[in-house]
Amino acid sequence: MISVEEALEKVLGCVEILEVEETPLLESMGQVLADDIISNIDIPPLDNAAMDGYALKADDTLGASGQSPRILRVIDTVIAGSISQREVTPGTAIRIMTGAPVPEGADSVIRFEDTDEAQRQDSNVNEIGILCEVERGLNIRRAGEDIAQGATVLKKGTVLRPAEVGVLASLGMSKVNVIRRPVVAVLATGNELVSIDQPLPRGKIYNSNTYSVASLVKRYGGVPKIIGIASDSEASLLDKLRQGLDADMLITSGGVSAGDYDMVKDVLASEGEITFSTVRMKPGKPLAFGTLKGADKKGNPRRVPHLGLPGNPVSSMVTFELFARPAMLKMMGKKNLTKTMVEAVLEEPVVNTDGRRLYVRAIVTKSDGQYHVHLTGPQGSGILTSMSLANGLVIIPEDTAGAKAGDTVKVILLGWDDEDDI
Ligand code: AMP
Ligand code: MG
Repeated sequence: MISVEEALEKVLGCVEILEVEETPLLESMGQVLADDIISNIDIPPLDNAAMDGYALKADDTLGASGQSPRILRVIDTVIAGSISQREVTPGTAIRIMTGAPVPEGADSVIRFEDTDEAQRQDSNVNEIGILCEVERGLNIRRAGEDIAQGATVLKKGTVLRPAEVGVLASLGMSKVNVIRRPVVAVLATGNELVSIDQPLPRGKIYNSNTYSVASLVKRYGGVPKIIGIASDSEASLLDKLRQGLDADMLITSGGVSAGDYDMVKDVLASEGEITFSTVRMKPGKPLAFGTLKGADKKGNPRRVPHLGLPGNPVSSMVTFELFARPAMLKMMGKKNLTKTMVEAVLEEPVVNTDGRRLYVRAIVTKSDGQYHVHLTGPQGSGILTSMSLANGLVIIPEDTAGAKAGDTVKVILLGWDDEDDI
């Protein structure tokens, strides 16, 4: 039995960063940028108005006030997307809308509220009263103030979030080079399993692991390839496994413990190499990892990493978070492979009798700037609803007998960051 750290190191040692591919911009969300991005345009491209108002010369506003407005002649109106053909000369102004390019001759924009426009009856304003002095440059967004032509806007290795996708769009990039997403084959094993679109015969259960595991694959940016269900026979398992050998990683669930029909390990041994088959953790002790003999698109031999997750629904999800997720993130070129962890005050005791590292489903709350954590209830690894209740996994180290109420413990957060209502 190896430690969680050793197991993770072995898994990560067997996966490589994937190739670069060009992808449509919107699909790149969450992927890692493969090139530095250098802008070949200024953004904004031209000086433009930051407010609706009048473009004018600041000198024309000297001495202007509510009591003694400066009257300027309005010679044009310019809206966003258009360019005025007129030039602002002393004594004149051009009515301007937010985003419209600042006309020739103007050095400032005064907002409507600082003019007497609202008091004027005629909708076609020929003259405007300026009610205050303005500083030169007021309400003008300078060309290139966001992005200057030639600047490196985003660096290779950046994870694309909505803001970066927006920045790339502002440069007019409809496609972007990123590290491609891993395809992860998902295979369930067990004679008891029935597909969710079929009636449920007595003695059978629905195959839920395929859906929790494939959802995790999607959530962390991969592309699940659902292989279906293999029955507990070597022939069925081999047949299905082979369908997953073109994937970047193969994940099976079930069939890795010591039961009579648990044959994933045997098949893994005959079709590839087993790296480990038990890990000092609970849930998740029977966790197999190895590589299967596969082939790339050109038929060249390649090793396909295979994670044999335990069949219990909670165990398969917890072991996915701890091993499959970092493997996927490494393949996608990400640097931070660990999930967010916090320290929290444990509100009830947890006993550890096994000498394994416990991952306890728990509910994290925050009060007075301090995280608190209590258990979801029964911790059986078949109780999948405990994962649904949980927003954290309390870690109880393998070399302790547990933790008391009031102890500070480490908790892995399972939530969706800003969607967490901790
Ligand atoms: P195993 O690891 O194959 O011995 O399975 C352990 C437990 O998990 C058994 O109770 C199985 O019925 C259950 N199980 C295995 N695979 C699945 C699955 N795909 N969906 C739901 N439960 C499963
Ligand atoms: Mg089984």
